[in-house]
Amino acid sequence: MSYIYIHIPFCRKKCPYCNFVSSANKDNTDNYIELLKTEIAIRKNSGGKTYAKTCYFGGGTPSLMGIDRLNNVISYLRRFFHIDQTSEITLEANPSDLNPVFLSELKSIGINRISIGVQSFKNKDLEFLQRTHTASDAKEAIVDAHKAGFDNISIDLIYGFRSQTKTGFIDNLKMAISLPITHISIYALSVEEGTPFYYRQKNGKKISVSDELAAEIYINSVNFLKKNGFDHYEISNFAKKDYQSKHNINYWKEGEYWGFGLSASSYLKNERIKNLERYIHYAGKLSNGELPIESIERLSRDEKMSEELILALRLIKGINWSEFKNKYGNLKEFGIIEDKIEQWISIKMLKMENGYLSLSFPKGILLSNEIFSDLL
Ligand code: SF4
Repeated sequence: MSYIYIHIPFCRKKCPYCNFVSSANKDNTDNYIELLKTEIAIRKNSGGKTYAKTCYFGGGTPSLMGIDRLNNVISYLRRFFHIDQTSEITLEANPSDLNPVFLSELKSIGINRISIGVQSFKNKDLEFLQRTHTASDAKEAIVDAHKAGFDNISIDLIYGFRSQTKTGFIDNLKMAISLPITHISIYALSVEEGTPFYYRQKNGKKISVSDELAAEIYINSVNFLKKNGFDHYEISNFAKKDYQSKHNINYWKEGEYWGFGLSASSYLKNERIKNLERYIHYAGKLSNGELPIESIERLSRDEKMSEELILALRLIKGINWSEFKNKYGNLKEFGIIEDKIEQWISIKMLKMENGYLSLSFPKGILLSNEIFSDLL
């Protein structure tokens, strides 16, 4: 069984808070699709055709590619993977790219899950974030997707930036639950080094709200979404019954996956393989028939244990402790981790319930970065 990620590194314009590998220069789009196909062919030249449980087009803005390029990649993937209607095939989309015709075409090539970068249903917020779409574009895109036959619709929302009031984000969630949405991801705005927001903040402009206010917004959001039928299944993710992201759950369960494209990562046979980030390098290697790899990291058993623990703790259900102990209990480092876990449990940041170790809500979740770095 395979899980596939395809990175599309192009956007209409670069958002001032974004540090993903993406560019507003679309000159190389067609060439990139051919390079992607070359990479797939080189890396999948042996091993037979496996069933693709998921295929995730992320970016960047995959919806910007248009139907022919997307179809070209999916058709090519079908030569190497068995993809059918039971495979979860997700496309990340910008609301301004979506219209009824394009959405029907996406359905017809097999895309069955759409993840829309809404970010906010308020124009004032969208202007602050310098997004290319409006609030009504976002609402229309969701309604059109549903009319086109998508019953698995996810949206991303951002909270915790200056133009937003305390109740403003809840208004966004109220709008979300009134629409035919089955999955919601909420992210606190983080000001990443090197981005325009970072320099503005450095020059004294207020970009994000205080940590206290961001925490309050998060707690209120979790309570609101749970009350309205969305299961809180991962720190930032909420889903209606049976609509959790299969693709991302595989990451959090330390499952193997293929990643194709610029900067994409794969995790196969205990190795984390990272592709080159610069287009010129990626293209250069593939044009010579070589793999566009930047690094390969082979995980030791200790490293695998820590990673597996930390990734699984992102899930609200947590990790089955006796299974984990059976797997790694004979390692010296297991004892060290167990002691640390005892300490976090004693101050109620972690909890052990029904055999599962998990983060407490809200304190453990709000302090999750500190807990994870302690456990690494
Ligand atoms: S659309 Fe998404 S990937 Fe592209 S620049 Fe904006 S935040 Fe980054």
